[in-house]
Amino acid sequence: MSLFKKIINKEIPAHILYEDEEVFAFLDISQTTKGHTLIIPKVETKNFLETDSQLIGKMFKVTQQLAKKIEENLGATGFNVLTNMNEVAGQTVFHFHIHLIPRYDENDTLKIEFSSNELDLNEIKTMILKNQD
Ligand code: 5GP
Repeated sequence: MSLFKKIINKEIPAHILYEDEEVFAFLDISQTTKGHTLIIPKVETKNFLETDSQLIGKMFKVTQQLAKKIEENLGATGFNVLTNMNEVAGQTVFHFHIHLIPRYDENDTLKIEFSSNELDLNEIKTMILKNQD
């Protein structure tokens, strides 16, 4: 059983912020920034691509509701909402989760940097959309 399934089953303690029949949310133990939250499905599913899209919609609704609470009650002024998929992207727990990471300052404890590459956008677009009906 996955670590997160044990948290859902209350076998491992967590600070639960939300729970319904399908979606569960709790504070990330690492608290990358204050209020760092994980939103997960109750069903065991490995990652973003393997999760039912309607369920993902429900998870994002909960993510938005919690973001509003964190904005209002912790004073966050922005958020990074992300999911790591597979080892190459830094996934360490293989039960799909959305990270909701509140931001308070551009120089706070989360660092995300998008580097810039000179690639042929037309070629990339053609490659992505090939075999499309
Ligand atoms: P990933 O690296 O897979 O995207 O994220 C996994 C997250 O799970 C990490 O941010 C990590 O801090 C969090 N995490 C790992 N173990 C526990 C735990 O036992 N309790 C809680 N609340 N979070 C955990």
